[in-house]
Amino acid sequence: MTTMSTESLSMTIDGAAATAVARFDVINPATGEPFDAAPECSREQLDAAMASAAAAFVDWRRDEPARRRALVTCADAITRHADELAQILTREQGKPLAKAAGELAGAAKWFTYTAKLEMPVEVALDNARVRVEVRRRPHGVVAAITPWNYPVSLAVWKIAPALLAGNTMVLKPSPFTPLATLRMGEILRDVLPSGVLNVVSGGDELGAWMTAHPTVRKISFTGSVATGKLVAAAAAPDLKRVTLELGGNDPAIVLPDVDVSLVAKRIFWGAFENCGQVCSAIKRVYVPESLYGPMLTELGELARGVQVGDGLDADSQMGPLNNRPQFERVQELVEDAKRAGGKVVAGGQRLGDRGYFFAPTIIGELQDGVRLVDEEQFGPVLPVVPYADLDDAVERANATHFGLSGSVWSSDVAKAEEVAGRLECGTAWVNQHLNVLPHAPFGGAKWSGIGVENGPWGLLGFTEIQTINVAKG
Ligand code: NAD
Repeated sequence: MTTMSTESLSMTIDGAAATAVARFDVINPATGEPFDAAPECSREQLDAAMASAAAAFVDWRRDEPARRRALVTCADAITRHADELAQILTREQGKPLAKAAGELAGAAKWFTYTAKLEMPVEVALDNARVRVEVRRRPHGVVAAITPWNYPVSLAVWKIAPALLAGNTMVLKPSPFTPLATLRMGEILRDVLPSGVLNVVSGGDELGAWMTAHPTVRKISFTGSVATGKLVAAAAAPDLKRVTLELGGNDPAIVLPDVDVSLVAKRIFWGAFENCGQVCSAIKRVYVPESLYGPMLTELGELARGVQVGDGLDADSQMGPLNNRPQFERVQELVEDAKRAGGKVVAGGQRLGDRGYFFAPTIIGELQDGVRLVDEEQFGPVLPVVPYADLDDAVERANATHFGLSGSVWSSDVAKAEEVAGRLECGTAWVNQHLNVLPHAPFGGAKWSGIGVENGPWGLLGFTEIQTINVAKG
């Protein structure tokens, strides 16, 4: 096992290293012990980052071809440092090293894909009297705030389109996972002009300072619903633009015609990827009564077969939960489900006595109204809910404030598509879940978010429309 220390990691402000007076501990979730520390950004340093981003905006917005080239250079830089970044990511986040490497490869892919997106200029009207063009202008300084489940990729989903559109940025990772993002800032500082991408680290308070900062014109936030509402409220007095990517409680609805042995594995990994810590993971599965027994058995066997362990061990398929509050929340929801009559088919308790490991857990005999079904568990626990009538299952799937994604499973694809269209959510998958692509808009309905990321639609979220209306003659 590598025992490298990143304690010298610095924030990136105005293209240079900014060290801090104070540092805060970063815990390895596989041990529950601090293994490193990150800089605590002061208010003065945040002001300096904002001033630098504002100054850099003046030139950065002018040269679109240069911005495209810069994004490709960012992709190359990430690829060159992918092994080092993956090691840091696994140690602070917990995911298996191969998955961390996949996150880095995805980040590079997102940069190269975004570099090729068009910045559209549309003609609304062109007649004898006027020519009306609809153009896109950058906002200015973007405040980007990210969570701890996919620290690198969720940051790149913001950096790449924001920078291509001509904005500059101040980025803050979660205090649970600041290190890979800080290191990425150091790497990209060598390939981007000073001030274009500033990376700061600190606690939740730093996020609040950013959303209230007068320099910021756009906030791009990924995190929980509760914090998302605070961000929206903080943006309101200054009418800052916001994109909010928030939590989910994704339903999967299985139709009676599926081959259970075929779909169970995909449903399982749709729920348990990243130890269940995915905003759009399957968080409850509705199964017809006719298939309920076989589906519970299959899912239980899959859960018992997972190799859970330290992400740095090559044979680990699943790591620990990322942090103590989340670990305790998952335990609390499982205990509540047991009290409500849930039948634990697999797992149901923590693994070992060190770190935040929790056994992959399948719980049956639950109905809506139990916390594990109604709330976002964000962990390796899946409630399996029986249904008798498909329309009733769809109604229950939609009876929530969440609306991030969902999936429908059937051997009749047309039927599944029809049911998918009835789900009140931002993305509805058919016979798959979690297939998130750079090309496809991703965002939530209802409390799961405002706006989308990715594809041309995500890019436009980092722009404002400007209408140029020219009189002829
Ligand atoms: P969180 O809301 O606690 O924190 C997210 C970020 O917001 C962190 O960087 C945090 O420091 C910062 N923050 C906290 N208080 C703030 C405030 N008052 N003002 C500004 N920033 C503040 O979320 P989390 O626990 O880190 O992440 C898990 C949540 O994120 C889950 O609900 C998950 O579903 C959601 N998520 C959503 C998506 C998506 O794309 N929709 C993707 C990943 C995660």
